[in-house]
Order: sequence, then C-alpha cells, then structure tokens
Amino acid sequence: MRLSRLLLSLALLACPAVAEEAEQNAFVEGNIIGIFYHELGHAVIDLEGVPIFGQEEDAADTFSIFMIHALFEEETAQDLAYDVSFGFWAEADLAFENEEDVAWWDEHGPDEQRFYNTICIFYGGDPDARADLAADLDLPEERAEQCPFEFDQAEASWGTVLDELVDRGPGETLVFDGDDSLTGQILAQEVEDLNAMLSLSAPLQITVESCGESNAFYDAETVEIIMCAEFEDHLFKLADRL
Ligand SMILES: [Zn+2]
Repeated sequence: MRLSRLLLSLALLACPAVAEEAEQNAFVEGNIIGIFYHELGHAVIDLEGVPIFGQEEDAADTFSIFMIHALFEEETAQDLAYDVSFGFWAEADLAFENEEDVAWWDEHGPDEQRFYNTICIFYGGDPDARADLAADLDLPEERAEQCPFEFDQAEASWGTVLDELVDRGPGETLVFDGDDSLTGQILAQEVEDLNAMLSLSAPLQITVESCGESNAFYDAETVEIIMCAEFEDHLFKLADRL
C-alpha cells in the first residue's frame, strides 16, 4: 500500500484560488499516473505475453484503474479514480465543444464509455466504500449492479499478472529517462516505487520527451513508454473544465 502522492492536496486551505489550483494540480498529476498505467498495461501485455480477448485498449484501461485500486490507500485511490474519470469526461466535453464527431473507428472506446467503464470497475472493487463516489459520478443503477462482477473479472486476469510480477521481487527493470518537469518528477517516483515492488521480464524504458503532440504511447520496437512533454499542458487545459 502506498500512502502518499508526490504533491499533497491543498484543497482544505481556506483560500479558494489556492484550493482551485491545488485541485487542478491534483487532476493533472492523477491523469499523468492514470495514463502512465494505461501505457504500462500495453507494455505488460507485450513483455509478459498476456493473452487479450477483445480490444487491447480496453484491457489497458482496465489495468490502469486496477493498479489504482491495488496500489493505493482507499482515500488516495478514490481521489485518483475521480481524477482519471474526470479526465475522460473532460476530453469528451472538449470534443463536444469543438463539435468533433465521435471517432467510432478509433481503437479506443469513446471517452464517455471509458469514463463509465473506469468508474464501474473501481466501484466494483469495494461497493460499500465507494457507493458515494458512484452516485457522485452518476453511475446508473443498472450498470452498477454488475460492476462487482466486472471487477472480479479484472482481478482474475490483471490481478494474476500483477501477482506474478510482484512474486519476482524488486528489481530495476523500469528505467527512467526524462527531465524534472512535473511529468518527469511523477514518473521518476512511479519508476522508483514500482521497481521496489516488482520486476518485468525485460527492461522497459520510460521516456519523457517532446513529440510535437499531446500523446503517450508504448513502442514495442524500442520497448519504451513515451510520455510526450506536451501532454502536461493539454491536461492543464482540461483541468480548467473541472
Ligand atoms: Zn492505449
């Protein structure tokens, strides 16, 4: 269990402007972590030969929220689940404002669906403790009913894979290569924490670099997760929609 995040939430401070800034920072930080876990999901699928039935993008989203459930104390896990869910909501909101059509052809599900899938799996992991969160985020009752089963499926697949990585013991299989930007600081800490807990079957480089677009991806050729430096600014813009 991990107790802390890199940045402490200042949301309880009396000054609204400071509280709002802290909330936006937490949103950006939470989404950098969520997106990193999504890309790590792709890397684990590739490096560990995890069989996937269905869309790999859905499996990577499931891995991301499962990691948040599995690695963090309840309060922090809930904060992260809110931030990651709002990330999908904000993307959908931005696309709507820009009058973009839903990209049905895309390998990712529509953002609205990723929003509900993320909430559902997280809620299903502890329905008693997370009922308020599900209600707050408008998870419909008819979906909520089956979320414990959806979580069980996620745990049966990803939980088993994660256990295997942890059983190998700590190592240095994640290798950080980035600067000390906010993204760089968060990922350097993630790499340190994950190395202290698990080992992959091959070295995986985590790179933070400028790529001319706000994106993140796993490159199977170079066995590398690339988090584009531009993503951070994009997330701060999304944070304005909170
Ligand atoms: Zn992906």
